[in-house]
Amino acid sequence: MSFETEATTPVPILPEAHSGIPSYLLAKATKTKQTVFDGRTKPVRDRQRLPVVPQGICREDFLKALDDLRQQIGGEYVSVNDRPLVDGWYMEHPNTHDMMTILDEEEFVASAVVYPGSTEDVQSIVRWANKWLVPIFPISMGRNLGYGGAAPRVRGSVTIDLGRRMNAILDINPEDYTCLVEPGVSFYGLYEELGKRGLQEHMWVDTPDLGGGSIIGNTVDRGVGYTPYGDHWACHSGLEVVLPTGEIIRTGMGALPGSNTWQAFPYGFGPYSDGIFSQSNFGIVTKMGMTLMPNPGGHESFMYTFQNEEDLAPLMEIIRPLRISQILENVAQLRHVTQAIAARGLPRTSFYSSSSSSPSVPITPEEIHAAAAKTPVGDHTWAYYGMSYGPPHIRSYKLAIIDAEFHKIPGCKKIDPSTLPEDEYFFSRDNIAAGVPDFHELRWCNWRPNGGHIAFSPVSPIRGADATKLFQLGKEIHERYKIDFFPAFCVGLREMHLIVEIVFDRDDADEKKRALACLRDMVDEAAKQGYGEYRTHLVLMDQVAGTYGFNDGALGKFNEKLKDALDPNSILAPGRCGIWGQRYRGRGWEMTGDRKKSEGDGVGPRVV
Ligand code: ADP
Repeated sequence: MSFETEATTPVPILPEAHSGIPSYLLAKATKTKQTVFDGRTKPVRDRQRLPVVPQGICREDFLKALDDLRQQIGGEYVSVNDRPLVDGWYMEHPNTHDMMTILDEEEFVASAVVYPGSTEDVQSIVRWANKWLVPIFPISMGRNLGYGGAAPRVRGSVTIDLGRRMNAILDINPEDYTCLVEPGVSFYGLYEELGKRGLQEHMWVDTPDLGGGSIIGNTVDRGVGYTPYGDHWACHSGLEVVLPTGEIIRTGMGALPGSNTWQAFPYGFGPYSDGIFSQSNFGIVTKMGMTLMPNPGGHESFMYTFQNEEDLAPLMEIIRPLRISQILENVAQLRHVTQAIAARGLPRTSFYSSSSSSPSVPITPEEIHAAAAKTPVGDHTWAYYGMSYGPPHIRSYKLAIIDAEFHKIPGCKKIDPSTLPEDEYFFSRDNIAAGVPDFHELRWCNWRPNGGHIAFSPVSPIRGADATKLFQLGKEIHERYKIDFFPAFCVGLREMHLIVEIVFDRDDADEKKRALACLRDMVDEAAKQGYGEYRTHLVLMDQVAGTYGFNDGALGKFNEKLKDALDPNSILAPGRCGIWGQRYRGRGWEMTGDRKKSEGDGVGPRVV
């Protein structure tokens, strides 16, 4: 066994590395890296040996298949995963496995990684997979942390790391406010490019909490950002897709040769096919159009705190009409104080008393409130972060309404940003809501040594009763498993996601077991009450897909029909989002209950 040696290597930067940090965030990232490695005790386990071979092919044939792949794509662009699994950290993440795995780290693991340099290479890889019956799994950047990272669902899949060589910004159109990107373009990368072209003041990138993910990967997994353009899927326009049998299609206006509206009109003519390429395993996206937001001519962040847990219900009743009428303009966040304390980036041990020193004794509300009272924001239970857009007279109209409405909750406090130190979380939200990617969010992972996280993300209407029900459900189940509870509500337009992040020690089997059991109970109990997840981790995909079971699972059967028609040999990302192709079905690949093994019992024969 050895410990990771990367602790002292410099943080990769853009544009040298497509996955790097912009220079304006380098100091922040370097400091974060230090804190991550300071808390790390998990050793890297030796595994010098041949790669994991996926089911359905014998080792000898698999090694021949890899030689064939090397010949087609180039030997230097195929790397076999026969080395120790190094977890790295956010900016130096692995593409072979889930760096925050909740199972044994050998479960969701790739056998090899291939780096295509063009759409034609992607076609060759897909045809190769059909020839040898090897499962393949595309990633763009592989930073889908909390949902599986870069890991494939089927053990031994060959990961297609699209981003490393296909990372061009193919177009930025400052008149139409659109762009066309390849898979390896991150939010950081697009923002930097706007800067280089003198366009940062002109048009904004809608960025998630951290900007290191790719625009394509985040959008196809239906991620969100925090400007008024927050719903990334709704904001994309046009895809180029390699189908699982190797054909290329362009969707929307891209299907019309010579069209100059591919990024301006998403629908084209006929059925709107884009939908089947998000949260699915029906195709590999090699290009995507995205809309950018015009600079609104001014912006102003605001933050309010609320004292009591019970303020949640009346607050939601206030937020809903304001949000739907766009007085509250962006996907705003309502965060619980426990998460605010964790977001300070210190280990849990900094806050607890001796009575709760064990990881299986949750921190008490008293300890959390005592810690909150010492912060610049002061004690509270809920904090609302929002932004108002437009010139001052437009903003002041909206801000006055918000202020009057929020103050209907007794104890409501408006936080004056000038009273906050410059590294306060508020300023990170301020950047992100104004289209400036930041690097702050994952600090709460430091709560536990070797901190990993995994999310429970149910959708509900913006209503007091629903918010309270989901909050109580999460709280009770966390108490059942003795886990600290970090809830935050992200308010969309007519719905909200409750995002609960469970932070666990990746080197503590008991902690991981409790975290997974807690998640499984939350998914089932939420579904019983009518709430479903908007997105989920690889380990929960079968369970979550099962909750969308109306009419004897008719939607799942429809997805299977599409899967079998488009991917008859079931080679593309089998099992992703709970969709299994015909060669895998009926062989026990689904993961539900307390099962820890990700593999089923064999794979069926070739279909075509
Ligand atoms: P990010 O870019 O945010 O780091 P990932 O690259 O990890 O995200 O992608 C998130 C998920 O979306 C992946 O697990 C993969 O299943 C899917 N995905 C990513 N890129 C593509 C793509 N270009 N085509 C099809 N599916 C993709």
